[in-house]
Amino acid sequence: MIDLRSDTVTKPTPAMRQAAFGAVVGDDVYEEDPTVLELEETAAQMLGKEAAMFVTSGTQGNQIAVLTHCRPGEEVILEAESHIYYYEGATISAFAGVQPRTIAGNRGAMDPQAIAAAIREDDIHQPETSLICLENTHNRAGGAVVPLENMQQIHKLAQERHISVHLDGARLFNAVVATGVDVKQFAACTDSVQICLSKGLGAPVGSLIAGSKTFIKKARKWRKRLGGGIRQAGIIAAPGLVALRTMVDRLVEDHANAKKLAEGLAEIKGLRIENMVETNMVMLHTKEAGMTAKEFVIMLKQQGILASAFNPYTVRLTTHFDVTSEEIDVVLKRVGKAMKQGV
Ligand SMILES: *Cc1c(COP(=O)(O)O)cnc(C)c1O
Repeated sequence: MIDLRSDTVTKPTPAMRQAAFGAVVGDDVYEEDPTVLELEETAAQMLGKEAAMFVTSGTQGNQIAVLTHCRPGEEVILEAESHIYYYEGATISAFAGVQPRTIAGNRGAMDPQAIAAAIREDDIHQPETSLICLENTHNRAGGAVVPLENMQQIHKLAQERHISVHLDGARLFNAVVATGVDVKQFAACTDSVQICLSKGLGAPVGSLIAGSKTFIKKARKWRKRLGGGIRQAGIIAAPGLVALRTMVDRLVEDHANAKKLAEGLAEIKGLRIENMVETNMVMLHTKEAGMTAKEFVIMLKQQGILASAFNPYTVRLTTHFDVTSEEIDVVLKRVGKAMKQGV
């Protein structure tokens, strides 16, 4: 099977397995695990933040950030198809007790003027706007890069209005290699950032959140409350260090493979690519091929290819380091053949 469902499906590299095997560990709830401390220090430095904290998943990192920035009854501005709003089980409402205020973005980027208009007034009737959440790259926008200038404008506005900014940077390093912008510049537009180690960077588990020392101190308590305090966590942090140190630059290969896949698919009659492929995702439109996304995914599976039905007529194909350029050729050949036969 050639698995293009997500970049989460990668298996840990031999170097990651070795690192886990040899990791020096301690009790991380006591903040005594040297490997976790090293990972947190490394991430903080890379992102240009004072401190960072290892968390079990991207979702946990995002939720801890919202819990730390906000109080119940406040309002959070986020993009209408953002992961925090779309895919996290309404946890910001259920746990943090905040009300989401969504703004539809343009390829994942919210218009700063629309945000300005959505920020609440000092009025007895209204909730307080306490947080703006950004996402880069934007998953449901097909791995779109949110431009640095857009983030800078939103950050400036947020600062003027005393509102915090959180970045869901599950795939921030994809934006970094796609643009050449230093990750610190993206992170500088935020009060907190979440990065995933287990997406394109290929680690088996974990994310980090980074911010000021005060933010991380508060966040550490929320992590414990949510059951995210892990003891000898160095075992899982060690592959994360390998991911941060060795797996960032190679993301260009995934992007090249996604472009090649998109260009090849676009040449097949009946298929159309919906997104401008900037990073590692291809959004394939299936309607003109006479199939729903679900039907198309079944057809792909019969050809030994796994993909995700994303919208009624949209299939998402994601490249990652366990898929080679040669396998992309195989995918194109098989899909082309199947479409010709009118499967
Ligand atoms: C995957 C993802 C997350 C959540 O990460 P998990 O580790 O799966 O909880 C958050 N945001 C975005 C944009 C993602 O793609």
